[in-house]
Amino acid sequence: MISTKFLLRVSFLLAVVACWFFLQHPATTLSSHDQGLDPDERFVLETGQPVGELSFEVLEDKTGIHLPSRLFFAHADGRPESPVVGRFKNFLVTASGRELKTIPVGRYDVYVSRGIEYTLDRQEVEILEGNRSHFTSTLSRAIDTSGFISSDFHLHLQFAMRDGAIVSAAAGLDLLTATDHNILKDYSPYIEQLNLGRFMSSVVGSEIDTVFGHYNSFPMSLNRWQERSYRHSIRTPGEFLRLMRRNPGDEIVQINHPRYDASKGGYFNTRLNRDTGEIEYPFFETGFDQVEVYNALTVVEDGENPQFGRNHKLDQNLKDWYSLLNRGIAITGVGNTDAHRYPSELPGYPRNYVLSETDNPWEIDPYKVVDALKRGASSASLGPFIRFSIDDGVQMGATHTARDGSVMLHVNVQRAPWIPLDRVEIVANGKVLKTLSTLEAPEATRHHWDIEVKADQDTWILVLATSDRPWETPFSHFSSFAFTNPIWVDFDGNGYFDPPNPGYPANDTAE
Ligand SMILES: [Zn+2]
Ligand SMILES: [Zn+2]
Repeated sequence: MISTKFLLRVSFLLAVVACWFFLQHPATTLSSHDQGLDPDERFVLETGQPVGELSFEVLEDKTGIHLPSRLFFAHADGRPESPVVGRFKNFLVTASGRELKTIPVGRYDVYVSRGIEYTLDRQEVEILEGNRSHFTSTLSRAIDTSGFISSDFHLHLQFAMRDGAIVSAAAGLDLLTATDHNILKDYSPYIEQLNLGRFMSSVVGSEIDTVFGHYNSFPMSLNRWQERSYRHSIRTPGEFLRLMRRNPGDEIVQINHPRYDASKGGYFNTRLNRDTGEIEYPFFETGFDQVEVYNALTVVEDGENPQFGRNHKLDQNLKDWYSLLNRGIAITGVGNTDAHRYPSELPGYPRNYVLSETDNPWEIDPYKVVDALKRGASSASLGPFIRFSIDDGVQMGATHTARDGSVMLHVNVQRAPWIPLDRVEIVANGKVLKTLSTLEAPEATRHHWDIEVKADQDTWILVLATSDRPWETPFSHFSSFAFTNPIWVDFDGNGYFDPPNPGYPANDTAE
C-alpha cells in the first residue's frame, strides 16, 4: 500500500519540476488576454524587435473631429527597406483617428493621408524602448466635392471584413460597394461596430464571371450566381442581362475590365475592333449601364514598379468608349480599382463622384446612386476632381438643346496640393476640341474656364484632366487622371441627339 507521506513527496517533487520547467521555458503561446491584443501589436511583437509606444491623433482642422486615415511609415534615415509597424507591414490604418500603438524602436517619417480630398501630412517621430511618443496630425479638406458622393464600384476586400471597412474609410470613400466574386458581403455591421457611420455607408453587390466577361452588379439582395455551371451555361450577353434585370431589376450592371485578357474576362476583346471600333460579334449587347473605362488592376503599366495613371491601355479604353458614344450608346464610363490586396492595391484610387442630393454618407440611398449612374451623372478621378456643366447648370449625362447653335461650357478642376495637374482636355464626339494647360499657374489648386462651343452637328462633350508627373511620397506610383461623363448637345435643335456614327458598321449590308 502506498503511504500518504510518499504521495505528498511525489506531488512536491512534481511541483518543483514543473516550476523549474516553466522558469526555463517561458510560455510562448498567447494567453487568452494576449489574444485580445490589437492585431497590429501582435504582428509587431511576433517580430521580436524592441518596442515603444506611439499615441497619435488625426484631426480635421475646421471641425476638430477625429478622422479615419492611413499612416505610411518610412525610416527617417532614408534606408530603403520598409519598417514593419503592423499587420499591413509599413502601414497603419485607423478607424477612430485616435490610437495607442506598439511600434518598433526607431526614427520614422510618418505620412498621414485620408484620400484625394484632403491634404497630406508628414510627421517625424522617434520611438524609444519602453517610452511613449505622441503626435497630432491635422488634415484639411483640399477640394470641395459638395453635391457629389464618392465610391469605388469594384472592390475585393479579401481579408477580414472589419479591416476592409477600415481601409475603405481611411481612403475617404463615402460609399463602400462590395463586389467580391460570385458572393454577397454586407459591410454594414462592421461600419456600425467601428462607429464609421458618419463617414461611410455601404452597398452589397457582386462580380459575376461568365464565358463572355466579368460583370459587377449592385445593389444585390439575392444571388442566383454562386454555381459556376449555371453562370457558364448562359450563352449570350443579352440573355445574361435579361436574367440580371429580372428581379428586382433596378440595379447597375457594369462591364468590368473590357480589354483584360480574353480568357480573363475582357468583353471587348474579339468583339469590338480595337483599331476601328467596329462591332465584330453578332450578339454584342449594348444595354449594360456602365463600363470600366479605367480599371486600375488591368490598365496599370506592368514592370518592377507598377505605375498607375494615364497610359496606352487607358487610351485604348477611352477609344472603345468613344466609339460606343459615337453610336449614341449612352453607356456610363466609370473608374474603379478592382483592388484585391491591401496595401499594394489601394481602394479608391481611382474612384467615382456621383451627383447626389446629399453630402452625408449616412443619407446615401443606393437606388438614387443607381439612378444617377444610369443617367451618366458622374465623373471618375485618380486625383483631380472635375465639375462640368453647360449653360445654366446642365449636368453630365443630360441631353441639352443649344440656343442658336452655341453653348457655354463651365469647367472647374480642383486638386489637393500634393497631386499634380498639367492639362485639361475638352473632347467632342471623340476628338480633342481644346487643350488647356494649367502649368502657367503651377501653384493654383483650382481652375475655372468658361468656353463657348459652336457646332452644326449634334455633339457629345466631356472633359479629361491629366498629369504625367508622379504624386508625392508615399503615392509616387500614381499620376493624375480624371474624366467626366458626356453632356449630349442637340445643336441642330430637332429635340434629340443624332449620333455622329449611327448603326453598326459591321452589320452594314446596304449595297
Ligand atoms: Zn474580373
Ligand atoms: Zn474584380
